[in-house]
Amino acid sequence: MANREKKGLVMLYTGNGKGKTTAALGLALRAAGHDFSVFILQFMKGSETYGEIQAIRRHLPQITVEQWGRESFVSKTHPAWEDVDLAMKALSRAGEVIRSGEYDLVILDEINVALDFRLISLDAVMKLLDERPPHVDLVLTGRWAPQPLMDRADMVSEVQEIKHHYADGVPAREGIEF
Ligand code: ATP
Ligand code: MG
Repeated sequence: MANREKKGLVMLYTGNGKGKTTAALGLALRAAGHDFSVFILQFMKGSETYGEIQAIRRHLPQITVEQWGRESFVSKTHPAWEDVDLAMKALSRAGEVIRSGEYDLVILDEINVALDFRLISLDAVMKLLDERPPHVDLVLTGRWAPQPLMDRADMVSEVQEIKHHYADGVPAREGIEF
């Protein structure tokens, strides 16, 4: 358990380059090493094949991870009702987890994308930040973070793509992309 007298931070990773989710996972690893309790909630993801999910399940009992999405990609223009439903349930679950105060670090992976796709509302996310117990550190990830959320965060890092191997035809690879 972390020092509960501390001021929790809201940290946000956005931008179009590779490294946002992995930065958040790095923080989870760092916190777990100090025996802090960590909760990772992934919006719009629904595949157990990610290496991080397997590593956490097998080796890192201090970290809880839940995926609230389907395996298929979500359409930005015409999201399926299941995708909207899952994202809204994910947000409500995130609220429970945060308000419980049981977790020192809560990571909401791809929440910025869920906002950008209008699966969830910015007002609801802002409310969740307001309701957070003061000691809880919160990490938000995903492209296209809305400006009000960046204004509200204590830390914002934008990962900017300079180049990506995908452009050279290198397909997604285990251990690198998933
Ligand atoms: P990572 O999970 O590797 O930290 P990320 O969270 O920054 O990446 P996302 O925007 O969530 O990236 O995109 C998810 C997937 O798309 C990842 O597998 C990532 O490798 C890949 N990706 C990230 N940036 C780019 C890019 N600029 N071009 C093509 N693919 C990308
Ligand atoms: Mg990501």
